[in-house]
Amino acid sequence: MNERMASPITIERTQSPKPRPQASSLGFGKYYTDHMFIMEYEASKGWHTPRIVPYQPISLDPSSKVFHYGQTVFEGLKAYRTDDGRVLLFRPQKNAERLNRSNERLSMPTLDEEIVLEGIKQLVKVDQDWIPNEPGTSLYIRPFVIATENALGVAPSQEYLFMIILSPVGMYYSNGMNPISIFVESKYVRAVEGGVGTAKTAGNYAASLKAQEEAAEQGCAQVLWLDGVHRKYIEEVGSMNVFFRIGDTVVTPALNGSFLAGITRDSVIRLLKHWNVPFEERAITIDEIVQAHRDGTLKEVFGTGTAAVISPVGELCWQGERMRIGDGTTGELSARIYDAVTGIQTGKVEDPFGWTVAVD
Ligand SMILES: *Cc1c(COP(=O)(O)O)cnc(C)c1O
Repeated sequence: MNERMASPITIERTQSPKPRPQASSLGFGKYYTDHMFIMEYEASKGWHTPRIVPYQPISLDPSSKVFHYGQTVFEGLKAYRTDDGRVLLFRPQKNAERLNRSNERLSMPTLDEEIVLEGIKQLVKVDQDWIPNEPGTSLYIRPFVIATENALGVAPSQEYLFMIILSPVGMYYSNGMNPISIFVESKYVRAVEGGVGTAKTAGNYAASLKAQEEAAEQGCAQVLWLDGVHRKYIEEVGSMNVFFRIGDTVVTPALNGSFLAGITRDSVIRLLKHWNVPFEERAITIDEIVQAHRDGTLKEVFGTGTAAVISPVGELCWQGERMRIGDGTTGELSARIYDAVTGIQTGKVEDPFGWTVAVD
């Protein structure tokens, strides 16, 4: 405790620690650790009283604005246990910055990024014996902000809660690193330029569930969104950005103001450049992808995101046609990127970019 004397964050430890789940039963987001971080905002006081307390339900008035107008944003990052017992975070500063960009878009108060980072680090430290270390496992960190003012008028809330909760997780998809089928959506749209697609906010997910359900009926795990205006430019997969290897060149949609700038996306781009892999960031139409598939030049497709890191795509379903990617198994480059990123995250390979931050 002594080296933390200067920190404004107080810690109240639980008197009744929970049993730890088996690594084999983790799944994604099923278990929560013993503690959580919480801090309030009032317009007159700003953010105040940051503290770590036992994990517990919170009580909210039914008129809290978050329930009615959806003013809420979140983040997702992971802590990893290295073989020599250290705990590493992956580019957490990027999450703190993006949280504030999301806050701004939703007219919510920004947070002191230092407090966000310190809150994450201290909470992870308090619950560090919850971090699993079997291959593919990690501690998922979910910071989020909700509007708590009790008022039904449509206007930015004057009160908020910022919280961080932790969940030990296994592989994101129940079938592990195996390629998934993806449904290319042509009926629903999720976000448009000028909307909230660039913010990590609940509404984007609420807007996507119907399409996700219908895709599941077709045996597809996720939806690939096309742009909402022309319905032809590729945007992103449900909770992941998307990359295509056409011939020897890797392409990903350029950020266009209607989908999320993923931190994994940025990391993959920097890795590809570091490896001198031909790479393009530009507008990509679904027609171009269908044509590349017909020509036999569409070699690999993969999604990128914190939860799954790299998710190979084995099949694209588009207008009744099921297009198999390569031989339907994990592509060679997808596997190389997965190994490199997870190697850096878990401290197994050198981190030439200075991406990892130790929790000590
Ligand atoms: C979180 C998220 C991603 C992935 O972002 P990462 O920073 O790589 O985890 C992609 N798309 C959406 C819609 C997301 O919410």
